[in-house]
Amino acid sequence: MTLPLIAIGALGGTLSMKASRPDAGVTPAVDAQAMLQAVPPLAQLAQVHADTLHLIPSASLTFKQLLDVLAWADIQVQAGAQGVVITQGTDTLEESAWFLELLWQHDAPLVFTGAMRAASHVSADGPGNLLNAAIVALSPDSRGRGVLVVMNDDIHGARWVRKTHALALDAFTSPGHGPLGVIVEGRPHFHHPAPSRKPLTTPARTDHHVALLEATLDADTLMLDQVVALGYAALVVNGFGAGHVSEPWASRLGEIARHIPVWVATRTGEGSTAWASYGFTGGEMDLQRRGVVMAGQLDARKVRILLWLLEGRSPARH
Ligand code: ASP
Repeated sequence: MTLPLIAIGALGGTLSMKASRPDAGVTPAVDAQAMLQAVPPLAQLAQVHADTLHLIPSASLTFKQLLDVLAWADIQVQAGAQGVVITQGTDTLEESAWFLELLWQHDAPLVFTGAMRAASHVSADGPGNLLNAAIVALSPDSRGRGVLVVMNDDIHGARWVRKTHALALDAFTSPGHGPLGVIVEGRPHFHHPAPSRKPLTTPARTDHHVALLEATLDADTLMLDQVVALGYAALVVNGFGAGHVSEPWASRLGEIARHIPVWVATRTGEGSTAWASYGFTGGEMDLQRRGVVMAGQLDARKVRILLWLLEGRSPARH
């Protein structure tokens, strides 16, 4: 029997990290081939094409690198891969997965995974997560679902998933939504049918920036005052509660919105911004009158990525 083809692209992160000396901290060191050696059952499931695309902590990944990952993954699907797995650090995994979810054009699954414990840890979770991610990527039930995140036996959608714990094995959750599915005895079980998707086109420009600032108690406006002058293409504010800011911020956001898109999200970690509940200055009704867009349930980091991709489709504003 011919086994299906799967492609695995390694970017680094804790899954690839080990310590060079007992007293040293872990750093990226395990390449894609060495990573596979820790997952022997994979060879019974698929022919594996594995590439080390980067070997870095995920804090240092860039949008440009993610566009290259997208091009690499496109080539793997065109070459016959039934599914693609990307391994990376968990610190920014929710952002990378959303970035590629917005651009992924194929029915073939693109599955992100990582690890909370390093490869050299006595109970490393990386090999199990990688095996599960491959199982999900190879499953016909995963087709048409875009980009998925597999961690700790759960399958999450890129839109909702967040790292909500700094160190725990079950660090990944989808607040307000829950996982899309779960892996039981080596098989994915999805709770809902595949959603309809409408990916964006790849951005033509990559030299622009989107600012993300958080509303905090008694915050100054020094950085807000510079946002337009610094040439940002858009501004995202991680707002209080249902998407609110202080009076000084409200007037600044109104001024900025005359030049560039301004979106306000909720900094609470779960739930939606409001649109028509609060009428005070700095509340969502006031902000919308000033030209601000409320982000609904999309968290601020994901709004920033959405706006970066959207702004990248248009020529630079001056
Ligand atoms: N702690 C991170 C991880 O889980 C490090 C990183 O994101 O690269 O992989």
